Amino acid sequence: MKEKTEGQKLAEQLCYVRKPVAERFPELTEECQAFCEEYKAFLGKAKTEREFVCEAIKLLEQAGYTPFDPSRHYKPGDKVYYSNRGKALMMTTFGRKTAAEGVHINIAHIDSPRLDLKANPLYEDGGFALFKTHYYGGIRKYQWTAVPLALHGVFAKADGTVQPFVIGEEEQDPVFYVTDLLPHLGREQNKRTLAEGIGGEELNLLAGSLPYPDKEVSERVKLLTLQLLHEKYGITEKDFICAEIEAVPAYKPRDLGLDRSMIAAYAHDDKVCAYTALRAELATKTPAYTTVTCFADKEETGSDGNTGLNSEFLFQYLEYLAEHDKVPYKQMIAHTRCLSADVNAGFDPTFPSVSEKNNTAYLGHGVVVTKYTGAGGKYDTSDASAETMAYFTSLLDRHQVCWQTGELGKVDAGGGGTVAKFVANRNIDVVDIGVPLLSMHAPCEVASKLDVYMCYKAFAAFAGDEA
Ligand code: MN
Ligand code: MN
Repeated sequence: MKEKTEGQKLAEQLCYVRKPVAERFPELTEECQAFCEEYKAFLGKAKTEREFVCEAIKLLEQAGYTPFDPSRHYKPGDKVYYSNRGKALMMTTFGRKTAAEGVHINIAHIDSPRLDLKANPLYEDGGFALFKTHYYGGIRKYQWTAVPLALHGVFAKADGTVQPFVIGEEEQDPVFYVTDLLPHLGREQNKRTLAEGIGGEELNLLAGSLPYPDKEVSERVKLLTLQLLHEKYGITEKDFICAEIEAVPAYKPRDLGLDRSMIAAYAHDDKVCAYTALRAELATKTPAYTTVTCFADKEETGSDGNTGLNSEFLFQYLEYLAEHDKVPYKQMIAHTRCLSADVNAGFDPTFPSVSEKNNTAYLGHGVVVTKYTGAGGKYDTSDASAETMAYFTSLLDRHQVCWQTGELGKVDAGGGGTVAKFVANRNIDVVDIGVPLLSMHAPCEVASKLDVYMCYKAFAAFAGDEA
C-alpha cells in the first residue's frame, strides 16, 4: 500500500467527510435486507394512523407489554403501552434510574398525507358515482390523479361500536381513482401552474358507473353504490358523517433498483421512523433511563387536535411517570432528552437546485441529524442547542451509527417543520433525527434501506444509553 502523504494525513485529521454507509459497513447488507423485509411487510399493513396503532399493539403484546395502569407500581424492565384514542400511542420500558434523572423520549408521527372523504361525500354526476375529498397534509395535488387508491378507515356506530372499513388492498378488491385530463384536451389545463394543475375540488374519487335498475328513482348510480355499501358493510349515506375514511395508494411497498437498495412505498413519512422506533423500543431490555416512545397523529396538519403533539396527551403521560416515581414533574422534565424522529429531504440529482450540497442529506449516507427545520430565517422551528447536538452525535459515534447532517432545502427554497418545537416549547432538549427521502409526500416515496437500518440502530442506541 502506498504511504499517505502529509497532506492526506492532515486532511484526515481535520476535514469532516461524509461517507456512504456501504463504504463503511460493506458487510451490513444481509441484516439490513432482513430488517427492511419486516419493515415492508409492516408498512403494507399499516397505511393509516389507526392501523399503525393496531399493528404496533400486536407486536407490543407479543413482547409482554401491558396497558399502562397509573395505579400500579412498575419495576425496571417492565413494559407498558398507552393508546390515545387508537390514533396515537405511547410505550415505555421502565429504567433503572428514577424519573428524577429524566426519561428518554423518542417521537415519530404515524399520520401521512392522503385524501380524506368529506362528511357528506357521495354524489352522482355525468353517470358516475363519486366521493368528494379534502386532502390531508401538504400534497402536490396533481400527483394523486390516475393512481389506484384504496379506502381505509372506520365508521362509528350509535351503539358505541367502531367498524373498520378497508376496500382496495386485496388482489380481487376494486380500487378508487381520481381522474385527470387526457393530453389531447389539456391545452387550457396546461396553462395552469403546477400547484394549480389539479384543484382541491377536482380530487374526486370515481366509485361506480352502473345505475340501480328502478327508473322511477333519481340518482340511480349513487343509489346502486349505496346499496352495495349497505349489503356488504351495513352502512347508509348518513353513516359517513360519523366516519374517518382515508384514500391511500392501493399498492404495497416494493424494492427499488436492480441492487434492491431502496424501498418505494406510500407513507415512509413518517412511518419509517415510527417503525424503527418501535423496533428499538421492543429491543430495549432494562435501560438506564425510562423510555417513552411516542407515535403522534396530526403532524401533517400542524399537530393540532387531541391526538397531535401540540396537545397535552404526551405531557399528561409524562406527569403519570413522574407521579409513579414520586418525583416533581418539573424536575423530571429538566433532565429529559428527546429525539424527534422524522424524515428529511434527500438530495435529488434531477432537482439539484433546491439543495445546498454541503448541508443537504444524501440517501445511503445514514440517518440525518437536523439541527433545525423551519423556513425563511429559522422561523417556526426548534433550533437544537450545540450541547444537544454534541450529546446526540457523540452517542451515534459511540454506537457506530452512520449519520449525516441535513437541512430542509436551501435557505430560501421553502421549508417545513416537525414535532420538535412542540416538545422544545415544554422545556425539553430535542433534536430531529430520521431517514432522508426522495419525493416526500408523493403517493410513492423513496428511502434507502441502509438509512432505514441505521435509523433503527440510532434509536436503539438512544433507548439503551447508559450515560
Ligand atoms: Mn414527517
Ligand atoms: Mn410530512
